[in-house]
Amino acid sequence: MNDFDDRIREIIGSDLYSRNIETIQPNIGLRCNNQCIHCHVKSSPERTEMMDWQIMQLILDVARRVQPKLVDITGGAPELNPLLRRFVAALKKDGQNVQVRTNLTVLLEPGMESIIEFYRDAEVKLVASLPCYLKKEVDFQRGVGVFEKSVRVLGELNRLGYGSDQRLILDLVYNPEDAFLPPKQASLEKEYREELSKNFGIAFNNLLTITNMPIGRFREMLKENGSFTEYQQLLKNSFNPETIETLMCRSQINIGWDGRMFDCDFNLAQGLSMSEGVPSHIRDFEPSLHCERRIVTGSHCFGCTAGHGSSCGGALIA
Ligand code: SF4
Ligand code: SF4
Repeated sequence: MNDFDDRIREIIGSDLYSRNIETIQPNIGLRCNNQCIHCHVKSSPERTEMMDWQIMQLILDVARRVQPKLVDITGGAPELNPLLRRFVAALKKDGQNVQVRTNLTVLLEPGMESIIEFYRDAEVKLVASLPCYLKKEVDFQRGVGVFEKSVRVLGELNRLGYGSDQRLILDLVYNPEDAFLPPKQASLEKEYREELSKNFGIAFNNLLTITNMPIGRFREMLKENGSFTEYQQLLKNSFNPETIETLMCRSQINIGWDGRMFDCDFNLAQGLSMSEGVPSHIRDFEPSLHCERRIVTGSHCFGCTAGHGSSCGGALIA
């Protein structure tokens, strides 16, 4: 039991349970070319954890059994796993709807020359991090030069049809640069659209706003500058009961690079396995147990229920 569980029980009269599996989210490796200050999985170029083909095959099997609405590939930078293209191709062959979370800058790394064309030909949906439409904010969070590189890659994605062709969806992700909640998603999306179009001629489909979770590297930063307790309190004080219905853990499973399963990528970052009695490795996947499992929570979960709510798919409430 923790304070989040207490709050949930007060409101719905029971623990939090999942209902189904609409999304399978494989985290295929923790290596990243960036080292952002808010990264919840603490990715960096030094990380070596990487999903192998054996685990990917198990995920392919589970996806065939579950028939999710979406396979949402994340990392690290998923592109740094040399098996990404093989995995995507196999998922597409099975008719799965595939999305890759890209940090954009990795697409300029050596060896990535044809990856945008691969994404286009496979009609992979892209969710790209761009925490602001201003250079100063992006470079502060993600490193000097990241904004300029991101804009260059977005231009190339647009040139190949991303953001305009209805089969090539390009969503952008915003997260605050400091310890505050995201603004309303719809109004920020309008601002992004106007600014990126006016300044760089860039088009995209949707903006997803995501709250910084008080874990990983962001937690370390908050601890260092003495604002961790205040931020955690802000998340708690902003608890919105309307978000409970659509919390992403209620309709997804997350699989780590080594095949361990989690309720979400934040629990993966916290090392919080699935609840007792539910198999914790993808090789033991059992629909009857995993579809309606008790969700393992912690104080970090207040990040998902604060304000308009937050998930890998953006705000939970319009
Ligand atoms: S936030 Fe994304 S781009 Fe930044 S270090 Fe983490 S995985 Fe890499
Ligand atoms: S952090 Fe994960 S388990 Fe907790 S509420 Fe958010 S999605 Fe659910």
